[in-house]
Amino acid sequence: MAVLISDRWKEPSVCEACGNDFTCGATLSGCWCSDVKLTPDERNQLQNRYKNCLCRTCLEKVGNKD
Ligand SMILES: [Zn+2]
Ligand SMILES: [Zn+2]
Repeated sequence: MAVLISDRWKEPSVCEACGNDFTCGATLSGCWCSDVKLTPDERNQLQNRYKNCLCRTCLEKVGNKD
C-alpha cells in the first residue's frame, strides 16, 4: 500500500547490494546517506544503480576504495 507515513518513522529496508536489513537515516530524496561521506559523483553512481538506499556497510565501501 502506498501510504504516506511520517518521514521520522522509517521502516527497515533490505540492502540491494548485500541483502542485510538496515534503516535508512535520511528521507529518500536526500538519501545516500547523510551520515556517510560520499562525493557527488559517488552519490550519482549509487542513484543510477540502485532504487533505494544501501546499508551503511555498503555505502562506506563505495566511499572508501583503498
Ligand atoms: Zn549492504
Ligand atoms: Zn539512506
